[in-house]
Amino acid sequence: EATEGTVENQSNIKVVVRVRPCLESSQDLIVSIPPAIPFPREVILEPKVGASQALRPRKATRFTFNRSFIEATQKDVFEYIGKELVDNVLKGFNSCVLAYGQTGSGKTYTMIGTDENPGLIPRVCNDVLNRVGQLEDTKYSMSLSFFEIYQENVYDLLHDNNQILKIREGRDHMPFVDRLTKHTVKSMEEVNDLLRLGVSNRTTASTRLNKQSSRSHSILTLDLEQERFEAAENMVVTTNSSIRLVDLAGSERIYETEDPASQRMKEGSHINKSLTTLGRVMKILVDNLGSHRKDPMLGVPYRESILTWLMKDNFGGNSKTTMVACVSPNDFEETLSTLRFAGLTS
Ligand code: ADP
Ligand code: MG
Repeated sequence: EATEGTVENQSNIKVVVRVRPCLESSQDLIVSIPPAIPFPREVILEPKVGASQALRPRKATRFTFNRSFIEATQKDVFEYIGKELVDNVLKGFNSCVLAYGQTGSGKTYTMIGTDENPGLIPRVCNDVLNRVGQLEDTKYSMSLSFFEIYQENVYDLLHDNNQILKIREGRDHMPFVDRLTKHTVKSMEEVNDLLRLGVSNRTTASTRLNKQSSRSHSILTLDLEQERFEAAENMVVTTNSSIRLVDLAGSERIYETEDPASQRMKEGSHINKSLTTLGRVMKILVDNLGSHRKDPMLGVPYRESILTWLMKDNFGGNSKTTMVACVSPNDFEETLSTLRFAGLTS
């Protein structure tokens, strides 16, 4: 049995794996966790019984992450990942979650979920609203923005005008999406209305541009502004912090049989580029951890894709990043590739 990927716990970057339930027969199960461990960190990937000749010589491989979720509920995932995001944003720190994996592996289910089983985004919004409501001596304002990146172009998902938005850099050298709409929210009804709008724009834009929503990255940002009266200093202190929740484009490989000039190939090369850059950026940041460099972004190729450029403020300083590697229990090659990617960045 081979072992790949190990993750230390103290870092600002965490990697977890979530195995979605088998929608077909349970015989297809190829990913498992060692039994009888309350908080499993390992997953075992092995070819299923009766697998094709090509897979049969493969040995079972163990991967280690910060945490492995199999048959986990949306609440379990929120307890482990979401609660910490809320703690962080209230303390004034930035954090982000990225869902990585092939199309159909459960990324959107994990981030948005369904009406019956809401995912991380609605749960996080709900918890932030509840907790800021209980703070004394603090005025707050929470707002949401939601955009997608398709073929390195940015589109507002909450303002359906199909316009390509420009990216600019502020005086602090932080990149931002120019003219992206920001919506103040005070209740879960408002949050849910915006999420529905964003999800439906993601789908209709797909139809119009003749693309699939699985070929774009969608990025939801929750901004929190807190104004607190500090009695000791006799002044009002304003804190801005954010949570970013990213549903990445499907990581599946495009096959060489595809016509090189086709739409799918073009989409594929943009996706490959941004996912590869994301992997490189995260790997460099993990390798640099604890080295206390003056400029932690020096030599980090975050500008090489729109996604990583816009996430610059999520990669430096006190920001926390969690990657959720989503896998499907019946596709050996894609699952192996996702676990390797997640293992590399950890
Ligand atoms: P992706 O966004 O990665 O393409 P989806 O989130 O759309 O994948 O998931 C594909 C299908 O599997 C959807 O019908 C979704 O509801 C279902 N699904 C995914 N993960 C789970 C899960 N953990 N529990 C139950 N159903 C799931
Ligand atoms: Mg999806």
